[in-house]
Amino acid sequence: MKRRLTLHFPREAVHQPITYRLAVDFDIAAKILRAQIAPNQSGTMVVELSGDIDELDAAEVWLERQGLGLRRTPGEIGIDSHRCVDCGICSSVCPSGALRFDPLTARLHFEAPRCLVCEQCIPSCPLEAISLVLDPA
Ligand code: SF4
Ligand code: SF4
Repeated sequence: MKRRLTLHFPREAVHQPITYRLAVDFDIAAKILRAQIAPNQSGTMVVELSGDIDELDAAEVWLERQGLGLRRTPGEIGIDSHRCVDCGICSSVCPSGALRFDPLTARLHFEAPRCLVCEQCIPSCPLEAISLVLDPA
């Protein structure tokens, strides 16, 4: 089965070969969907893990023991273009730059590949134009 996780790396865990250990110790394939990690700094990564359900559960326990924070990420961010009025408020809370307000065009731009699915933008929108689009069950 597949499971999507958002991993938060503390500074001391950034250099760990996480994907290698997941493959060797748990027979889990880790596909990195997004990553925002600078050398010697904390960071965030969204990964899609594929493997046996028991191994996935064991791997989550192991990741937490390595000091990583983890959160199951059930979908992707969607912007309802019919509701959005390009006010730009959401871009001010986005930590990854996925939401960007262009002052020249007065338009909001959403770069999905940069999105960490942290969901901080969802409550920031006064028009409820941002939502979490859940993965199909
Ligand atoms: S969920 Fe929203 S705030 Fe978080 S990275 Fe994605 S676009 Fe930015
Ligand atoms: S806060 Fe809502 S209305 Fe404003 S730019 Fe973002 S998505 Fe559009």
